[in-house]
Amino acid sequence: MNTSPVFRPLPSLAGARAEPIPGLRLQKLRRAAQDAREAFVKEGPVAAVATCELVTFPYPAPFAFSGAALSPAPYVMLTHRMQVVQFVDREGTRRTLLFNPSDYERGVLAPFYRALRERYGAFVSDKVMSTRHGSVQSHLAALGLTPADVDYLAFDHLHIQDLRGWLGGDGMPAYFPRARLLVQRSEWEVAAEPHPMQAVWLVPGGVDIPRERVVLLDGDVWLGQGAALLSTPGHTRGNMSLAVATSREVFVTSENGVATESYTPLQSAIPGVRRFAEHMGWEVVLNGNTREDSLDQYSSMVVEKLFAGTSSVDGAFVNFHPSSQLTAHVMAPGLSPTIVLPAPNFGDVRPSPASRRAA
Ligand SMILES: [Zn+2]
Repeated sequence: MNTSPVFRPLPSLAGARAEPIPGLRLQKLRRAAQDAREAFVKEGPVAAVATCELVTFPYPAPFAFSGAALSPAPYVMLTHRMQVVQFVDREGTRRTLLFNPSDYERGVLAPFYRALRERYGAFVSDKVMSTRHGSVQSHLAALGLTPADVDYLAFDHLHIQDLRGWLGGDGMPAYFPRARLLVQRSEWEVAAEPHPMQAVWLVPGGVDIPRERVVLLDGDVWLGQGAALLSTPGHTRGNMSLAVATSREVFVTSENGVATESYTPLQSAIPGVRRFAEHMGWEVVLNGNTREDSLDQYSSMVVEKLFAGTSSVDGAFVNFHPSSQLTAHVMAPGLSPTIVLPAPNFGDVRPSPASRRAA
């Protein structure tokens, strides 16, 4: 029988989120994010984290920086990454979480990408416009992990996700025999009954998985030493960010922004971005393909920025690592990232004792 995992809340953030006035909520979130970070760092680093590149894919340029970037190129290229995180939970057990293990072969069935494929043809959209770096399966094998080693799957949000191949459903066998999905209740509810403005990014039937494989979360969760899922609504209603402390730094990842410079737009060399931010008086520039909760997205990006802190590589930037990261490409002139931080890797990922006991 599956027992429910016991995660702690992160102190202070929930109280700030309850403030109903958006401007005041942002002020309260600023203080809360700094307090939460301090408590998070004090407990020490995560056991291990590895970053794995999955696929580089086209994404509409006007969305990437909310229309700020001045380029005639219709698409930018984003590289989608997965993090393999190992943390020690409250019971002292080392657990394995896959953050953004995207089954990208199935993700093309989301209406937005299905239409792109129909427009350009499967060959162009899959072979010319996209580059596959490795699958979830091949990355895990390279790290010495089996599917049974994985305790949890989580995604920053459910756009383009089809979970049936991983967790079973619609007659498909589950690739991961033990893993459970950690998802915000609000994200789960939207995925089950999307509004048309939300449905364009969702794979039809993608979340038809057995209910006992799903752990619904309400807000931030502190998974274990050095690992947390922050509730960062905006890009989607139940958006989450992964926060990890290593011995050197804290990093945060999500898709609220597509580049580290989205969080410090005054440092951006992409034509248009700095001027747009100055003109609007914005301290962050949103990944703007969704409009359902833009005020929250801005505030969540401020939380991510403060929680991550400055980069040890270049103190003018913050240690934010986009889950879908802007990537220089010949098809997207003038839209290369100003800086690309080294991908987070720390400690040694190893097979989990829980899976060995179960075997
Ligand atoms: Zn998205």
